[in-house]
Amino acid sequence: MNIVIFGPPGAGKGTQSKFIAQKYNLFQLSTGELLRKEIKNKTELGSKISSIINSGELVSDNIVSNLIEKFISNDIYKQRLIFDGYPRSLAQVRNLENLLNKYNQKIDLVLKLSVSLDTIKKRISERKTQEKRLDDSEEIAIKRFKTYEDSTEPVIDYYKKSNLLKFVNGETTISKINVEISDLIDSIKGWH
Ligand code: ADP
Repeated sequence: MNIVIFGPPGAGKGTQSKFIAQKYNLFQLSTGELLRKEIKNKTELGSKISSIINSGELVSDNIVSNLIEKFISNDIYKQRLIFDGYPRSLAQVRNLENLLNKYNQKIDLVLKLSVSLDTIKKRISERKTQEKRLDDSEEIAIKRFKTYEDSTEPVIDYYKKSNLLKFVNGETTISKINVEISDLIDSIKGWH
């Protein structure tokens, strides 16, 4: 099954995606992680995108689309992807639909992790000390939240119109959220 997971920065998308990937033998496709890897490896692409990422804006659709096509086109991951951090805008929704059609795949479940801005600020300041992400300063985190509200909330409205979207309370503990998400996945029949 292919899953899309949404939530504002600091909602716990990455943590939950890793858990689901392991439990259901899926592959976590985190655009944020892929982009950070480019920066860390000092690639040409990395040098192009580092200032954009560190200012809390979105990198261009083309760049992200090319990155994810590598995975959607690979038979190893066919119908086994968790889209973590993609699509983030309506233009990216259209790109994703085109790519899925091209490679004969579909989305089976869309999860939205909801958390308040207060919780986000708290989590991001904790993460900053642990992971040292350059985009985790309070100022940039608020900017990323704003980008999320402006660009990504409309995407959620789009998926609301399908029956695929399920809401998950992201304010509880990691393990409670694990259980809630597992129940949702298990309730989808015939996906194996
Ligand atoms: P978070 O959701 O916590 O902000 P991510 O790791 O998902 O963290 O993303 C970090 C940054 O990477 C974003 O702020 C953005 O600059 C860039 N990025 C990630 N995914 C996308 C995407 N789909 N489109 C454009 N930019 C993206």
